[in-house]
Amino acid sequence: MEDNIKDNVTEETKEEVVSRNFIEQIIDEDLKEGKHKEICTRFPPEPNGYLHIGHAKSILLNYGLAQEYGGKFNMRFDDTNPTKEKEEFVNSILEDIKWLGADWEDRLYFASDYFPQMYEAAITLIKKGKAYVCDLTADEIREYRGTLTEPGKNSPYRERSVEENLKLFEEMKDGKYADGEKVLRAKIDMASPNMNMRDPVIYRVAHIAHHRTGDQWCIYPMYDFAHPIEDAIEGVTHSICTLEFEDHRPLYDWVVNEVGYDPKPRQIEFAKLYLTNIVTGKRYIKKLVEEGIVDGWDDPRLVSIAGLRRRGFTPSSIQKFVDLCGVSKSNSAVDYAMLEYCIREDLKMDAPRVMAILDPIKLIIDNYPEGQIEELEIDNNVENPELGKRMVPFGRELYIEREDFMEVPPKKYRRLYPGNEVRLMNAYFVTCTDVEKDADGNIIAVHCTYDPESRGGNSPDGRKVRGTIHWVEANSAISATVRLYENIVDEEKGVYNPEDGSLNLNPNSLTTCTDCKLEPSLKTAKAYDSFQFVRNGFFCVDSKDSSPENPVFNRIVSLKSSYKLPTQQ
Ligand code: ATP
Ligand code: MG
Repeated sequence: MEDNIKDNVTEETKEEVVSRNFIEQIIDEDLKEGKHKEICTRFPPEPNGYLHIGHAKSILLNYGLAQEYGGKFNMRFDDTNPTKEKEEFVNSILEDIKWLGADWEDRLYFASDYFPQMYEAAITLIKKGKAYVCDLTADEIREYRGTLTEPGKNSPYRERSVEENLKLFEEMKDGKYADGEKVLRAKIDMASPNMNMRDPVIYRVAHIAHHRTGDQWCIYPMYDFAHPIEDAIEGVTHSICTLEFEDHRPLYDWVVNEVGYDPKPRQIEFAKLYLTNIVTGKRYIKKLVEEGIVDGWDDPRLVSIAGLRRRGFTPSSIQKFVDLCGVSKSNSAVDYAMLEYCIREDLKMDAPRVMAILDPIKLIIDNYPEGQIEELEIDNNVENPELGKRMVPFGRELYIEREDFMEVPPKKYRRLYPGNEVRLMNAYFVTCTDVEKDADGNIIAVHCTYDPESRGGNSPDGRKVRGTIHWVEANSAISATVRLYENIVDEEKGVYNPEDGSLNLNPNSLTTCTDCKLEPSLKTAKAYDSFQFVRNGFFCVDSKDSSPENPVFNRIVSLKSSYKLPTQQ
């Protein structure tokens, strides 16, 4: 299985080197034609929420292209709509992008810094007779716009003179009008088959303070007008966005041309990244956060970048995931298992493999000397000798997983049961002799004897044991909380409830195991450190709740998967 995956990956990688994705082909062509000497891309989030895995794709795509062509990557907040934007989001977004490794150097921009240029651009359009102030209400504008099958009607204010438009627009800026009383519209074509070209609103009155410009402005530009201007001002050459903006491209080009920018930025659309059965929408994540269903935007069950980081994903695992997804022009969803595959690959060799018991039960070795502790030298990662070795204490009383013992075993059960001999990983062979119960019949300890000749877990006489179980020495064990996760939504029911669009939550998305027993080497583990807990999966120290007194670990991913990489495209 593992080998299978490896083969596929090598194939994928080979293919990628040969075939350029469609965006690279466009850039190659533009460079060949001499349109640009150097390319410039940007990532333009609206600071109205935390970033998620879909944004990571956009970030790494834009940054990756800039790197590949020796160009520039700009970081720009598209903060032209003051209603939903917050400083908190600005900071989280910057932190997430830095963590992913995308470097904007000294080019951190805010669209709101360009409000004066946008205002000037609007004046330019008015002077050219390409924009007018319109007094229709929002409802009337909608009505006049027509439908996909019927052309729209011209606004009665469309033929205002340049002078009148200049005066009215200035008055809009000076706060003479209430919200919604007047708007500035581009004068394009009310009969255009593209609804976006039917005299779109480009400026509106909104008496709201902006998180950066305060009360300086009471008119704000609309996205479709602002975005091409932002790109042009910064010298962005390739403005990469998602498919829903395809129909907006003619308007993007119209603004660039009519305002008269040169060189001209170019918009290119690609398909959004979706994960099957996974909540990515900002709106939904926000609701989960606000309703307290999750522990903030960085809850490890979320695919927000902050959530993935806290869960224990690494920047390189996300890069690998994005690379495997590729860039496409048609929407499709990717399996979450692919993301899991990427983090397993990333941690397999680098994470130390340690022993941790999630559901402990005592194992007492009756013939082991009381009070004796021996230190066993154990590989930190058998597949990666570079990680070295560590000393792990072994003694008479250990913890093992409750499920590794059965009083009455089913057929083919190879672990501990009365009379059976197993290997304690890296330690000794033990044979189960007895089980100890409380008055209610609950098992409180399992008894066994060990073979002193089998030290290191090696058979002394060629004798075979069929099971190997892990363990932790009882006196030196650290108690910890371990969190296990499942999808936040119920996959069988589907993500959304068709009746009201609410999420079908999975009641088992978080399992908290308290009083787990970990080997003492984990005492020095710090936030974000990752480990393989043998047989149980990959785990990461929680960055929010863990402390030396009460360590908390999050399961990043289990060890096994039936996942096969899909053949791409
Ligand atoms: P909103 O609905 O608030 O606009 P958004 O997810 O589009 O949400 P933005 O801040 O506008 O958020 O997105 C910033 C950039 O990330 C945009 O260029 C957008 O195209 C890109 N992006 C957003 N979601 C995805 C996704 N799922 N896959 C790839 N890119 C995405
Ligand atoms: Mg958006």
